[in-house]
Amino acid sequence: MLTGKVAFVTGASRGIGKAIALDLAAQGAIVIGTATSESGAQSISDYLAEAGAQGAGRCLNVTDAEMIAEVLDEVAKTFGVPTILVNNAGITRDNLLMRMKDSEWDDIIQTNLNSVYRMSKACLRGMMKAKGGRIINIASVVGVMGNAGQTNYAAAKAGIIGFSKSLAREVGARNITVNTIAPGFIDTDMTRALPQEQRDALTQQIPLSRLGEPEDIAKAVTFLAGDGGAYITGQTLNVNGGMYM
Ligand code: NAD
Repeated sequence: MLTGKVAFVTGASRGIGKAIALDLAAQGAIVIGTATSESGAQSISDYLAEAGAQGAGRCLNVTDAEMIAEVLDEVAKTFGVPTILVNNAGITRDNLLMRMKDSEWDDIIQTNLNSVYRMSKACLRGMMKAKGGRIINIASVVGVMGNAGQTNYAAAKAGIIGFSKSLAREVGARNITVNTIAPGFIDTDMTRALPQEQRDALTQQIPLSRLGEPEDIAKAVTFLAGDGGAYITGQTLNVNGGMYM
């Protein structure tokens, strides 16, 4: 379905990003997954090779504009211009607002929101030249519903939703779609850091009675990247087990 298409997935060393990279690769895409370290990038190259997929890992800090330009340039020369961009990299720095340090606010906005602006801008020219593209941004149920202790994270994720809707209007005539996926609570390192009681309480709020798996998000990304997503843009797809309806 995605044979020959070059897909760029940020934060693909583990969790949701890894599942996305593997699912896109299973559909025939050439996948470039990024990690924050060289060893993480190598692990991406290794799991792609093990899966018999085309593509490789690359070291990239999504807050570094120069590095983004360098990596995208090299990737275009080596593999071709990415026409599928998945902005998945993200972090948490939870705290109540009254206790929040400026650095906790700034880190989240830089890594979770400004990166989406930078990566999208850096990839758009290539997509325009290729006469089409798909940008898929990973937000969160927290950006839709809010969550105590996560004002910074919620602001960044809600920002991604507004950004995507606006960019979708700007580039639709160029055959480029821009959509957001808002995952609910997914079983990854990010949520494994939560105490078990909190995970149990969260599960009780989910009509499908389980945390999501990274693959649940990956399947939605692959759908939007493929033929099924051709006429879908500016949307937020809630993949959350029914947590928010
Ligand atoms: P994770 O912590 O397992 O993985 C995050 C990935 O982002 C890692 O590969 C990490 O190396 C990368 N990353 C972090 N900072 C980076 C930077 N500066 N530059 C480049 N890469 C960086 O998290 P996850 O649960 O797989 O989350 C993936 C995405 O899904 C994030 O955007 C997260 O906010 C979002 N999300 C997760 C959940 C959840 O419940 N796990 C829910 C909603 C949304």
